[in-house]
Amino acid sequence: MVNAIQPLYIDGSPVVATSGDTFDVTNPFDASRLATVGQASREDVDTAVASAARGQKIWAAMTGMERGRVLNRAAAMLREQNDALAALETRNTGKPLSETAAVDVQTGADALEYYAGLAPAIEGSQIPLRETSFVYTRREPLGVIGAIGAWNYPLQIACWKAAPALAAGNAVVFKPSEVTPLTALKLAETLTAAGLPDGVFNVVHGDGRVGEMLTGHPGIAKITFTGEAGTGRQVMAAAGGSTLKDVTMELGGKSPMLVFADADLDRAADAAMMANFYSSGQVCTNATRVFVERSVKDVFEHKLLERVARIRAGDPLDPEVNFGPLVSFEHQQKVLDYIALGREEGARVLTGDDAAFTQGTFANGAWAAPTIFTDCRDDMRIVREEIFGPVMALLAFDDEAEAVRRANDTDYGLAAGVFSESLNRAHRVIHQLEAGICWINTWGDSPAEMPVGGYKRSGIGRENGVETLAHYTQTKSIQVEM
Ligand code: NAD
Repeated sequence: MVNAIQPLYIDGSPVVATSGDTFDVTNPFDASRLATVGQASREDVDTAVASAARGQKIWAAMTGMERGRVLNRAAAMLREQNDALAALETRNTGKPLSETAAVDVQTGADALEYYAGLAPAIEGSQIPLRETSFVYTRREPLGVIGAIGAWNYPLQIACWKAAPALAAGNAVVFKPSEVTPLTALKLAETLTAAGLPDGVFNVVHGDGRVGEMLTGHPGIAKITFTGEAGTGRQVMAAAGGSTLKDVTMELGGKSPMLVFADADLDRAADAAMMANFYSSGQVCTNATRVFVERSVKDVFEHKLLERVARIRAGDPLDPEVNFGPLVSFEHQQKVLDYIALGREEGARVLTGDDAAFTQGTFANGAWAAPTIFTDCRDDMRIVREEIFGPVMALLAFDDEAEAVRRANDTDYGLAAGVFSESLNRAHRVIHQLEAGICWINTWGDSPAEMPVGGYKRSGIGRENGVETLAHYTQTKSIQVEM
């Protein structure tokens, strides 16, 4: 436990919040207090934005090669700290160390390296007009980016937002989730140690009130937000308000996985498990609606049950454990309420015993059991609403057109997947699914090279991939008369 109040990070240094308000951060495995964190005041946010504006000028004047070198150094330093950062992330999120040590820090570092390589590749174009006239374009940074994170991948989200923004010459004021704020400070310290000029990456802690200070701030050019669709709507309205900011929105989902009878069912079952129980189901792209062709439903259910029996739940710091508690007790209540609702709605519980998660090792944690509801109907709330916990809904279908129609019957459009050994069918179906992130015969991988983001109410814009750089630059056209 850390006794000192966790500071903000402004202008290249830790800074005590001036509000005098604090909030506690809790370990969801044992309910112990991990830290007390200072909540940023409006004055602190103003200071952070002013320092970002100053730092951005220095940073943008450096060449892309120079910016890339700083980001590469930061990535290497993050990898060196992998074990300590992963353990801190595990204590704060409850996610197993087997996940955080393998994925969270590494995928954050991947993004920094990927955009480090792209920083010198940001180019303009040249457009001939007449003999004596032409236009050239420059891709210029936007200025100060306000970044607001969710709690499920704290460090990764911070890196995924910072990497393209910084590569393009912007400065960032980052507000991590108040539920999981601890690694953001480590990232800020690492970036400074790697040579990032002071003020180019700042951290302001606090709840939605601090988020609102960013979305309405006249000194911020763009908001990049990861969180729930409902919060996203508020953020977008505020960002659009008087200051007309650009936005990137990475929101929730209720993603369909379609398992056809000709699929490799073991592979599909492995993927369905991963896409519902990894991180205890707290992954935005999860396949929480698994549509299975009726002729293989029984055998598929059997394969899932075999796999659920092999889940190793326990202390998330134990490297053998692959299933941890939920992120917080508040979130646990929401997930348990949904599990109760599923029963009330008449879905059949194939597996799921929350009572088994209340004793011994589990007595003090925010647990929900891996739960599979089968014989679900499309109109059930557990099928329509994002639960963000270890809750899979199985739905049977009879033909391809029906499966596509039902898969698309949602306001969300984050991810989708098809399992079939017929590649013709797999491509034909995936092209009809309304989702931004799609997988064929696999699920969940999200490398830095792959643009990710949602259709419909799952988001606006993309993270990762080359195209994201366009979201952090603006085009200046310059006509020249000779
Ligand atoms: P949330 O919407 O509750 O909070 C997200 C962030 O917004 C937090 O930092 C919070 O403090 C801040 N916030 C709250 N109210 C605000 C306001 N009025 N103005 C500005 N900021 C405000 O989301 P959460 O519970 O932290 O995260 C879970 C959600 O995130 C899920 O819906 C999940 O699907 C989504 N998510 C999406 C992606 C993606 O890439 N699409 C990735 C991870 C998580």
